[in-house]
Amino acid sequence: MDNLQKTIGQPAECSGWGMFRGESVRIKFKPASVNSGIHFVRVDLPSRPIIPANVHFLSNTAKRIFLKKDDAEVEGIEHVMAALAGLGIDNIEIEIHGREMPAGDGSAKYFMDILKEATIVALAGEKHIFIIREPIMVSNGNASIIASPINEGLLLSYTLDFDGFFIDPQTYEYEIEFNEENFSREVASARTFGLSTYVEEFKKLGLGKGVTDDNSYVIQKDGKITKPLSMSPAELRFPNEHVRHKILDLIGDLYLANVVVKGHIVAKRSGHFLNAELARKIANIACKA
Ligand SMILES: [Zn+2]
Repeated sequence: MDNLQKTIGQPAECSGWGMFRGESVRIKFKPASVNSGIHFVRVDLPSRPIIPANVHFLSNTAKRIFLKKDDAEVEGIEHVMAALAGLGIDNIEIEIHGREMPAGDGSAKYFMDILKEATIVALAGEKHIFIIREPIMVSNGNASIIASPINEGLLLSYTLDFDGFFIDPQTYEYEIEFNEENFSREVASARTFGLSTYVEEFKKLGLGKGVTDDNSYVIQKDGKITKPLSMSPAELRFPNEHVRHKILDLIGDLYLANVVVKGHIVAKRSGHFLNAELARKIANIACKA
């Protein structure tokens, strides 16, 4: 069953508000057929445009992933993409009444719990696997990701480094066979975080309206971890929750290549922009293969 494509057995719904815009939003996950892929459907717009969750429709990577087809856009999709990757779901339709995905608890766990309730079912078709055979590198300033061949499976390593500010560098290595138990336990519940300097920037831009004390936390320049609103000390879910969330984002962003990657991926300081660049390169090579 592990090599077979998957979808959900029955529809599932949830609602909430977007982390950045704070607008209320309702979504509905619906089963999809083999080889149909992952699609968002903007059911709030008259023509109900369909936006494939694929690198070809990436429109922006500023602090979150935006997809756009014609005039229709969805944003903040990276954590649901990580949940789908973690659960091995290849085909699904996501109806969305609005433009931004709900923040949930700021991690992939919120979406995983809903999708698991809907039951995961296998489809009669093999998964699209991408084996890294030659090193692939992307870089931007002092951030980089190198993907290299490995004997089997996927090994992810991420190094978080803020040049001596905020927190000491953290490296986390995660070996993944995309099984739900492993992903749930190690990565899925790591929440999003903001650096205190960005918080001010976001306020000026009118963003971050959906942030709560539960769905994110803030790292201050002196290393203190606080809640965003009350500014009281925040409890972490893991001592290295920050770097685990970076791995979660990397997994979600790479899934925009629409393949299951097998290889060794070493990321340093990367964010959505660079993760998406790697996904683009992988998708290009996969499509020529
Ligand atoms: Zn994230």
